[in-house]
Amino acid sequence: DSGEDTIVVCPDCEYGANIEAAVCQPKSFDASSEINVVTMKALYDEGVTKIVHFALPASVALQDVKACNAVDANDLVECEASDTIETLVVDAALEGIDSFTAGEKSYADISAVQEGDSCVHCGGALYYTKGIEAGHIFQLGTQYSEPLGCNFLDENGKSVPMVMGTYGIGVSRLLAGIIEQNHDDKGCIWTKESAPFDVQVIVSNIKDEDQVALGEELYSQLQAKGVDVLLDDRKERFGPKIKDFELLGVPHAVVIGKKLVDGLVEVVTRRGLEKEEVSSENLLDTVLKKVR
Ligand SMILES: [Zn+2]
Repeated sequence: DSGEDTIVVCPDCEYGANIEAAVCQPKSFDASSEINVVTMKALYDEGVTKIVHFALPASVALQDVKACNAVDANDLVECEASDTIETLVVDAALEGIDSFTAGEKSYADISAVQEGDSCVHCGGALYYTKGIEAGHIFQLGTQYSEPLGCNFLDENGKSVPMVMGTYGIGVSRLLAGIIEQNHDDKGCIWTKESAPFDVQVIVSNIKDEDQVALGEELYSQLQAKGVDVLLDDRKERFGPKIKDFELLGVPHAVVIGKKLVDGLVEVVTRRGLEKEEVSSENLLDTVLKKVR
């Protein structure tokens, strides 16, 4: 429930969209509905600007990105209101209702979906939540290739600028996203796919030679099987070691402790912190079944 983007979500079906692209069921307006006209300055390539107007029901808010796309601009900036209307975009909800005249008039969805609006798929009451932008696509067109002279010869042998796009996944942001979805009040819970280690072997008391021997043996055996394993053989008490395991969030831990004298060790699953006592015999097989 954190992140910088506002996401519109339906509680009753799987619909979800960034507010910049979200849609809802059309609301009904009539000729008596109050209409707001917003004046903006649209910015285009090479310093070209144009004053544009947007008309929409007074009860809904203008969605900046939808409005920007409706006039094919690079950006919209606020400017003083002007009564001379040349280019006008009217919200699609007012089509057939409004009586505006303008040199250049068009209709487009330029309104922001509000909480409580109806889902286009099922009619559910939409609500806002927060999200992290994990990846994005930009259509750059010839915005950079033209000034940089990045040209190619087309089928007629004519030099034309390349059309560019950029596609990105925010790898470091994904880590934040994974932990946002997978944690508890003790720390991280890495998923199998994202975990830095598959299993953590904790030697409870490193002064106990048997515990150390089994820990090191298991560590080597797991490594030989291609398992990413972390061995905690620090000169710490058991308390801080288990706390660090909970904080780091490696999916599984094998705790080699006092009960080794009875032939028992403990396997802990980080998610839910479920503990299971298992035999120290055939320990490698038991652990391999857990992590694979
Ligand atoms: Zn729905």
